Amino acid sequence: MITTQQILAVVAAIARRIESEKDFLTQLDNEIGDGDHGINLARGFKSVMEKLPTLTDKDIGAILKGVGTQLVSTVGGASGPLYGTAFMKAGNVCKGKSELTDEDFAAALQAAVGGVQMRGKAVEGEKTMLDALCPALKALKLGLDDGKTLTAALTDAVNAAANGVEYTKTIIATKGRASYLKERSLGHQDPGATSSLYMLQTTLEVLRGA
Ligand code: ADP
Ligand code: MG
Repeated sequence: MITTQQILAVVAAIARRIESEKDFLTQLDNEIGDGDHGINLARGFKSVMEKLPTLTDKDIGAILKGVGTQLVSTVGGASGPLYGTAFMKAGNVCKGKSELTDEDFAAALQAAVGGVQMRGKAVEGEKTMLDALCPALKALKLGLDDGKTLTAALTDAVNAAANGVEYTKTIIATKGRASYLKERSLGHQDPGATSSLYMLQTTLEVLRGA
């Protein structure tokens, strides 16, 4: 079972990780975008951390929803509404829950990824965060279906997301700002896929108790 405390710890750890990777994410976005991805996300998660104390007595659904609304209103760019929607959709699935089963966790990730797809109208292979998120979701579900523990299945998911990030180097962007570059986007790793990988890695570290 995943507890409310663990979810709060995941959010805080993601905020720290995004802050520490801010410059690298911004550098990636400099290569194929407008160089604001790390700055945008770090600003958003800083404001999430300011809001988090008001959410500590809430259920997991309300916490994730609060994170999402905060991201929507502070991150901006393409990734703000996308990550904001992801957290809000995950929050809907966890509504009223103070503990999550492995299945709840998978359902929350599924809703998050579905939210990104709905909002951004992108599919896998367009050099976006979905190239990390979709393979990760698939691997998580496969692992759980195979009877793996959540941390084992999430390890598979993180590996799949890391492969997805590598894959973004080999494809041309057809969504978002990077699509303006056409074939010049080749060879560059997608910033959003990279930040998605960091969020998944951080979630695993916290749930594993590292
Ligand atoms: P902006 O491009 O508006 O400056 P950011 O730099 O914060 O926004 O985020 C860029 C990232 O957003 C990209 O690297 C990509 O992963 C993601 N992205 C852009 N458009 C879409 C979309 N339609 N669907 C999914 N992800 C997208
Ligand atoms: Mg940008």
